[in-house]
Amino acid sequence: MAEVLPIRLYGDPVLRKKARPVTDFSGIPRLAENMLETMFEAGGVGLAGPQVGEAKRIFVAALYQDLPEEEEERVPLKKRVKETFVMVNPRITFAEGEAVGTEGCLSLPGLYSDDVPRKFRVRLEYQDEYGNPKVLEAEDYLARIVQHELDHLEGILFFDRLPPPLRKQFLEENRAELARMQKEAKAFLRELAR
Ligand SMILES: [Zn+2]
Repeated sequence: MAEVLPIRLYGDPVLRKKARPVTDFSGIPRLAENMLETMFEAGGVGLAGPQVGEAKRIFVAALYQDLPEEEEERVPLKKRVKETFVMVNPRITFAEGEAVGTEGCLSLPGLYSDDVPRKFRVRLEYQDEYGNPKVLEAEDYLARIVQHELDHLEGILFFDRLPPPLRKQFLEENRAELARMQKEAKAFLRELAR
């Protein structure tokens, strides 16, 4: 059975670390499975290694089937999965176009911005959980997800991508909530160290 891992919150230093390339794939299929389970449980579209305390260059993502709102309530997210992705050591080899859109983050629950700039189309080279080389061409929504997750591997959070005045505004508007998360992140780390 896959395990649901604790998701690291804003304020946890692992979210600001540059993740290390994966060279030993022995624990990766298991980690990927647990990350997918954690993402489904949290209702997310993507989750990167650092978000579960693993400073490794891995992320998972999923596309879900759209349902009418009243059905969305009843059907568990896992039952709506159209496609899942496990990407290890990913890198963008081509990008084009500009798009501004909405993003949130499982490490910043409840916080969103509608103004996050991304490339509209990207080509990604990566390895699957067994180390096999793969290529993905993505645009629009999926391209946004993979760019958001790739940023996590560099210690970058979505609000860092906002133009400076909007970034400042985001931090000010959410100051109390961010402080609360930092406090919770610290408490979690204290507990972990015991
Ligand atoms: Zn995120």
